[in-house]
Amino acid sequence: MSSSPAVERGILFVVSAPSGTGKTTVVDRLVERTPRLRRSRSYTSRPIRAGEVDGVDYNFVSRSAFEAMVREDAFLEWADVFGHLYGTARQDTDTALASGADLVLVIDVQGARQVRERVAEAAAIFVLPPSYATLEARLRGRNRDPAAAIERRLATARAEILAIDEYDYVVVNDELERCVDELQAIMIAERARRPRRRAAIETIVATFDAERRK
Ligand code: 5GP
Repeated sequence: MSSSPAVERGILFVVSAPSGTGKTTVVDRLVERTPRLRRSRSYTSRPIRAGEVDGVDYNFVSRSAFEAMVREDAFLEWADVFGHLYGTARQDTDTALASGADLVLVIDVQGARQVRERVAEAAAIFVLPPSYATLEARLRGRNRDPAAAIERRLATARAEILAIDEYDYVVVNDELERCVDELQAIMIAERARRPRRRAAIETIVATFDAERRK
């Protein structure tokens, strides 16, 4: 019998959703409500927006600093999204998972594909808006982007939806708390997968063996 590690390694969750689906709010709420779950902080070369904080929303770096990290193979995954570079640092991910925390990466479909190739046991979740019209209304309503950028986000959304079959779970963000409940249920179920219960199984089965030997 192999000795079990002192700390069970955390689970890697990937969440993707078209821009405007409300994934940031959903995942923030999920992390608030779920003990032992952390959100990964990505690196990005895009300029910081008003209200964002470096080191909180993202690690904001120059394009050349980002490209140097790519050359050093510092990223578990990275992608060009809307003309800017975004990536998840290997080191950050490893540290969090090794500490026993579960980690959620909120990344686009290109990044999700890379994670699935590299981390077979990662659980991938796609968050859908209730409809295309709702997504369009949300993007136009938040008054953040110029019309051309909104058109580009909508075109990207139409393309991203085509990757939905690559995901393990799908959740519809029709109502915030209900959507968060479903995501939490997925996380609880993932934690109960048999391979992740190895340590508990060994301990409990040993008590049955002891009884049998009596
Ligand atoms: P925003 O610039 O609006 O914060 O994010 C734009 C897009 O980049 C979103 O679809 C988001 O999921 C994606 N994104 C954010 N961080 C990462 C990352 O580390 N890797 C990848 N592949 N995509 C990311």
